[in-house]
Amino acid sequence: MPQTWMITGANRGIGLAITIELLRRGDRVIAAARNPWGGALAELAAEHPAALIPVELDVTSDASIAAAKEALAGQAIDVLLNNAGLYGPRDRQSGLDVDFDAWREVFEVNVYAPIRVAQAFLPNVEAGQGRKIATISSRMGSLAANPGNALIYRSSKSAVNMAMVVFGNSVRARDVSVMLFHPGWVQTDMGGSGADITPAESANGLIRTIDASGMAETNSFRDYTGEAITW
Ligand code: NDP
Repeated sequence: MPQTWMITGANRGIGLAITIELLRRGDRVIAAARNPWGGALAELAAEHPAALIPVELDVTSDASIAAAKEALAGQAIDVLLNNAGLYGPRDRQSGLDVDFDAWREVFEVNVYAPIRVAQAFLPNVEAGQGRKIATISSRMGSLAANPGNALIYRSSKSAVNMAMVVFGNSVRARDVSVMLFHPGWVQTDMGGSGADITPAESANGLIRTIDASGMAETNSFRDYTGEAITW
């Protein structure tokens, strides 16, 4: 039975790789992106006109979320994947010189948006069979990792971990599972070409792990292989 996944930031990087793998195995993908009609998504839409549903979505914009919500009214979603993310400026992230404007911008995308998106599309998830909301966080948000620099990015991922756990508690009684993932260090624009794994490796691991998860895994923090990560 094909599933329907909704993925934010589906136009490049890890989000695009997950979209490609899901379409390959016959699932449907609601590919949400600021520009879902260009680049790689346009090519995929031509190949999979029935299975790929492009939706315009800037995850920081209430108006954009409202328009996407209206466009998807009544559409069941099995897995909602908060993937869109920002790193922030590489050179202004130490404790002594953090760029506060950039910090606010990164929090909009990495922390507030996953909650906004989860709230907006919760009715769609409740209409689906999968009943899963997954968020791509990062091992860099782990306090146990004894962080060095990257104040903006690390604090945003620590914050989204806590925010989604609270959200998970809010929807536990509705049988919706909420999960956090580290995708590995992945060769994307954000991860850089020297990263450990390809987007396809990360995507396949994440899909396999999310497929095998349910309410027993709600409020867990794991990597793309399914291994638990210390908060
Ligand atoms: P990329 O930089 O390659 O892609 C980021 C994606 O997020 C793009 O699709 C981008 O869209 C989208 N995005 C950013 N801002 C917005 C917005 N306001 N509205 C909608 N979409 C937006 O990153 P990755 O693919 O590497 O990262 C995906 C996720 O994985 C992120 O959450 C990241 O933090 C996390 N991660 C990545 C790691 C890595 O090694 N790559 C390691 C750990 C975590 P657009 O093209 O329009 O800019």
